[in-house]
Amino acid sequence: MDPLIAGYQQFRAQRWPEQRTLYEGLADSQKPQTMIVSCCDSRVDPATIFSARPGELFIVRNVANVVPPFEPGGEHGGTYHGTSAALEFAVRKLAVSTILVLGHGQCGGIDAALAPPEDSSPFLAAWIALLRPAVENCSGPAETLHAACERENVRLSLARLMTFPFVAERVQNGTLRLEGAHFAIADGRLEWLEQNGSFRAIT
Ligand SMILES: [Zn+2]
Repeated sequence: MDPLIAGYQQFRAQRWPEQRTLYEGLADSQKPQTMIVSCCDSRVDPATIFSARPGELFIVRNVANVVPPFEPGGEHGGTYHGTSAALEFAVRKLAVSTILVLGHGQCGGIDAALAPPEDSSPFLAAWIALLRPAVENCSGPAETLHAACERENVRLSLARLMTFPFVAERVQNGTLRLEGAHFAIADGRLEWLEQNGSFRAIT
């Protein structure tokens, strides 16, 4: 059987009876308090990592958990800003109180930023170019460079969030907070970005 169909049938048999009332209550509207910007990577599922239920997290996933710069005119060749549209909706319509940028270990987007592939992938190449400032800010031996870039990329996305006027305005008036985190995958550990700019393991 198709694993998607099998998975759905498992959902209907197990989770739906448990959460039916929750889903029915959510039918008219959603009121998530948290938006997460995370990577498309299949190993990094925010709802699983944060034990979240339906309706709790507004998630936008893209390659390498990138927040693009605020570009209302699309000056870099495109006006289809999916991530920016999700940000606008989450902040201005849903009024989330937190935006978390979630980076992760072994991110293929960081691989591509550190060593751009030679094959032609125009969409990916343009997107990965957004990571360049993070990579340029990192140095050190190869064995620690990748991990450093993963974390710097979280800091870069957070800085870019502040280039969106509707984000900056709410951060400054105290109705929105920005957070960063890093999920390691291999050991299932989460690190949280602290005020001093360093990541601390959550115990
Ligand atoms: Zn990734």
